[in-house]
Formats: sequence, structure tokens, C-alpha cells
Amino acid sequence: MDEGDFTKARSILFPRNVLAGHGVLGQTPDVCKDFGLSGSALIVTGSKTKNVAADIVTSKMMDAGYEVQMATVGEATQENLEKVEQIARECKTNFILGVGGGSKIDLAKMAAKNLGQEWISIPTSASHDGIASGRASIKNENGPLSLDAKVPLGVVADTAIIVQAPYRLLAAGCADVISNSTAVKDWEYAKRLRGEEFSRSAYSLALYTAETIIDNADLIKPNLEESVWVAIRPIIISGVSMAVAGSSRPTSGSEHMFSHALDMIAPGKALHGEQCGVGSIMMMYLHGGDWSRIREALAKIGAPTSAKELGITEEQVIEALVNAHKVRSRFTILGHVGLTHEAAERLATITKVI
Ligand SMILES: [Zn+2]
Repeated sequence: MDEGDFTKARSILFPRNVLAGHGVLGQTPDVCKDFGLSGSALIVTGSKTKNVAADIVTSKMMDAGYEVQMATVGEATQENLEKVEQIARECKTNFILGVGGGSKIDLAKMAAKNLGQEWISIPTSASHDGIASGRASIKNENGPLSLDAKVPLGVVADTAIIVQAPYRLLAAGCADVISNSTAVKDWEYAKRLRGEEFSRSAYSLALYTAETIIDNADLIKPNLEESVWVAIRPIIISGVSMAVAGSSRPTSGSEHMFSHALDMIAPGKALHGEQCGVGSIMMMYLHGGDWSRIREALAKIGAPTSAKELGITEEQVIEALVNAHKVRSRFTILGHVGLTHEAAERLATITKVI
């Protein structure tokens, strides 16, 4: 360690209460009261999640004496973000409850940051590890942007609600967490090769969540609330590892770069977590690790393991592999030059992705 390591200061922001379990949705007002939140709440939700969860939260909050306004919005776009913020200003609401899937959670955490208000994350599905993180993905005319948003004060994850979401979303969330297996290897590699800043705690936390999902892959099945129970905490804690690291490093490496490359080559074909899972199989091979263990865990959960299951062509996989290193400047096993077409084809063939 050099002197700088002892003199630097950085704060780590965590959610203070993560409440997960059957029927916890009704405890939302208690969580708000525990945090000393008062006045008027703005619920950010979508048209489907309004019926499934936001209406329940609204009546519970009103029973407990809170005023409630609702912003029913669509995708996480700049336009919808402005709509949410406008409603908050006009109705003079005091705090935000994000009730919905990934896009509503993203809008809630970004609006909370821009308005300088606290917010609580109430996921109705768990398709990626951003439920409790301080990063948001907001689309503008140039595509999705990863922005610095606000960490929620608390998380209320009701397994009875989340099990009603399409199973594909939960499987994708699990695949996103499994992909930490290679993200942490890339981070360690960058530390050794490039002296990159590293956190053993964040590394261990991210790896632990991936191992928990892999070890319990047999238990994660459709239409089974226990599956949500097993998966939800690792999915939430995976996001927390980003807070410890102060960046997405522990949960996003070469496999995420492969996914981002696919987003440009074959947009809208597969879910983020699904793409990262398949990327992780291949990147684990490059790291010389046990790639078939990752593949087996994904298959058990019912997440895609091949181009065909992702709904893309073999050539699109190869193109994404060849271009993945250019997606961002993050140093990974792909290095600064990436894979040749031949190497990419061989990699995807050996790992049975194509
Ligand atoms: Zn991810």
C-alpha cells in the first residue's frame, strides 16, 4: 500500500433496510415510518404493475395516514423521467416509492437523485441486479445511458408479488448475478496487470452472490415462490457490491461488454441478464476457469446458454465477441485488441454457444 491508500476518504451508501419475504408489501408504510418519512409519497409505477402492486401500496399508505400521488409511466426514457419529476413538483410530494420492474425502479432512483428526495425500491420483478443499486439506465435519442442515481433508503421485495412476474425475468436476474463469476476475474486480472483500484470486500460479496445462485440452481424453477426467496437476496446483494466498490466493477466485466455489444448488433432480442449469462460461459473459458459449471447452472435455472436460445444468429455472437473490447475502456481478459474472428468462432464453438 502506498500513502494514498491511508489518506483517501470515500463514503459507501447502502440501503438501510432490505425487507424480503411473503406478503411484505403491506409493511411498506411501517418501513416509511421507520425512516421518518412523512407527508406525501409519489408512487412511480407502470400500467401492469399498478394493478399487481401499486394499488395495494397506495391503499396501505393511505390507511397509515400518508397522502399518495401516482405517476404511471412506460419505459425508462428521458421523457418519462421529466414527466415523473414534473408530477413530483406540481403535487409537492416529499419522497418516492418505485413500484415496478427494472424501468420503473430506474426512473424512481434517477428522479430521487434529481429532486434531492429519498426513495424506496419495491420491485415487482427481478430481471437484473439494479434493484438496490445507485446506477440507473435511462434512454435518450442516442440509446441507453448508465447514470449515477441514488441508492434507495430501503427495499421491500414481496416474493408473493415477484413470483407473479414472467419467470423469464427471474431467470435473467439470476443469470446476471451468475455473470459476476467472470466480472470478478476480470477485476482481479486488471488489478494484477494494470494496478487497478481493488476492493477485497466488494470482490467477495459479488463472488458470494454468484456462488449462492450456482449452488442453489436446482431450487430455482418457474411458478415456485421459494425460487424467488432463494434468488432475491443474492440479486439485491449483488447490487450492493457495487456500492462497496464505488463502481460496477465487481458485477460487470467482459461478459457485460459482450452483452452491450449485442445490444448494438441485435437490439431487443434477449434480456440483459440472459446475454450476460451466455457471455460469462465464454469469458470463463478465456480465464481458464470452469465454464461448464456456469453453463450447467444457467441451464438448470432455464436461462439461455446458446445463440439459438438467445434468439440471435451464430454470426451475431461472433461479431459481438470481436467487438466487445471496444464497448468501453474497462480492462478485461479481452485486453485492448480483443478477439480475432477465428478465435471468436472457436471460443463460441468450444463452449457450445454456437
Ligand atoms: Zn448486469
